[in-house]
Amino acid sequence: MKLTIGHLYPDLLNLYGDRGNICCMKKRLEWRGIEAEVLPFASGSQIDFDSLDLILLGGGSDREQALACEYLKETGQAFKDWALTGGVLLAVCGGYQLLGNYYQTASTKIEGLGILDIYTEWSPKRLVSNIVLDSTLFKHPIVGFENHGGRTYINDYPPLGKVRFGSGNTDSSGYEGVLYQNIVATYLHGPLLPKNPEICDYLLTRALKRKYGGNIELDTLSDELEHTANDYITQLCKSIS
Ligand code: GLN
Repeated sequence: MKLTIGHLYPDLLNLYGDRGNICCMKKRLEWRGIEAEVLPFASGSQIDFDSLDLILLGGGSDREQALACEYLKETGQAFKDWALTGGVLLAVCGGYQLLGNYYQTASTKIEGLGILDIYTEWSPKRLVSNIVLDSTLFKHPIVGFENHGGRTYINDYPPLGKVRFGSGNTDSSGYEGVLYQNIVATYLHGPLLPKNPEICDYLLTRALKRKYGGNIELDTLSDELEHTANDYITQLCKSIS
């Protein structure tokens, strides 16, 4: 078995080590004897979405996001079709905001891809901290780091998790991210997947199922270090809340 992972616009959208999410996906496949190919697509390159099993769209500053948005417009419909027909997508922060209808910044309105019927509005108080979420899908809390000025309004989409510590989508809704079809969209940088291997395996399983069908059960990995990091952040946040 083999998965092809596309990294969209690493030259523009790669804050706080978002690329670590790619390393994590690749390693966790290889540790199980599954081949992994990573294709980075610099801004402006042609993308054949049908050849991709998984995509990472990372985060960026408002300026970089506006540039990425211009490039994405060119491939917008193909990306949308891919994502809404079961494409497995991890979108982080600026990438999450770009999936929506628009991001209204302090000075301009950045049109989104409209893959999700959500929108984001900027507010002067930046939301910056470690963050801990609870999700019924995963045994461990989801941990990460958030730093955003945008507040994302997700309508009736299911969130990724309930905020235990930190701010999340709007600082007041009590929820974070979106989990819809095979799309995980979240404000959690950090990078997300090494600290939350259950989310990584969730994405990999979905991508393998989409490609090969049947009942995919990934071999269990020890994840001792990963869980130690996860517990450390959870305890740290608990001690200061
Ligand atoms: N530019 C966006 C905001 O500040 C996203 C930043 C990011 O990706 N960290 O809301």
